[in-house]
Amino acid sequence: MKVYGIIGFPLGHTMSPTLHNWGFDECGITAEYKTWPTTPEALPAFMERFRNERIGGLSITIPHKQAVIPMVDRLTKRAERVGAVNTLWWDNDVLMGDNTDVAGVVHPVRSRGKIPASALVLGAGGAARAAVAACRELKIPDVLIANRTRAKAESIATDFGINVVDWSGKEHTTPELLINSTPLGMSGDLENLRPWQGEYHPNCLVFDLVYNPLETKLLQKAASAGCETIQGIEMFLHQGLEQFRLWTKQELDSKEARTLLLEKLALSRNSPAK
Ligand code: NAP
Repeated sequence: MKVYGIIGFPLGHTMSPTLHNWGFDECGITAEYKTWPTTPEALPAFMERFRNERIGGLSITIPHKQAVIPMVDRLTKRAERVGAVNTLWWDNDVLMGDNTDVAGVVHPVRSRGKIPASALVLGAGGAARAAVAACRELKIPDVLIANRTRAKAESIATDFGINVVDWSGKEHTTPELLINSTPLGMSGDLENLRPWQGEYHPNCLVFDLVYNPLETKLLQKAASAGCETIQGIEMFLHQGLEQFRLWTKQELDSKEARTLLLEKLALSRNSPAK
């Protein structure tokens, strides 16, 4: 049986096993997707095991997305641009590092049919790098980034050739696409917070990368102002479908996959352990 899985630390709740194990069943592939909590110190040993056991593919999450780069044979152009890897796959005997988080942002925006003329990315962590790379791939002409710690936004801006706007001054802009890649709005202490207090462009599309809860305070407010919105679950779904494609060359039904993830999310929100 082929084995796939995810490494990260701490791994906590991850919906990746739900998606990929369902996918293997759907496609009649005899394979299993596992979770391997892996500390930074244990990463080199895990990667040795990965090669020795010829594990079929790997999802990579925090804190390994950059640390793993020297341990792969080749990066895709996309991963090189982002400077982070969330997927390992084999191209014959070559271990490839890719970044499907970018597809997770590109696909939901592109499927709206109209590419926005301007974008503002809020936050400057790993998800923000993928979001900015996605804006580039979508060929959005005018892309801005704002972050609480300005220096981190400047570093991304330099890498991608975009401009920075101050966190305190960002509400003076009116982007056609607003992407939240901060944890503001996430279930727990941050749930009632919004990263944006400003007005919305009349055609504004608001994409919150936070997916728990599904309807964040940001999305609720944007929808009531008449904006189109995209939930963070769409990013999770499309980065996962792209991983599955890289590993198996098979296409999963995105509607069915979404339903499955929504059920899983509802269960985890209602679970007394959370
Ligand atoms: P990260 O690397 O830790 O970056 C978090 C960013 O948010 C940093 O720029 C940080 O600013 C900013 N931030 C944190 N707390 C803040 C606050 N109270 N006020 C203002 N800014 C704050 O995290 P990440 O990996 O980029 O992930 C960010 C979020 O994206 C996650 O919380 C997650 O919900 C979401 N995400 C979703 C998916 C998906 O599949 N939908 C995938 C990845 C991530 P400083 O630089 O000032 O610290």
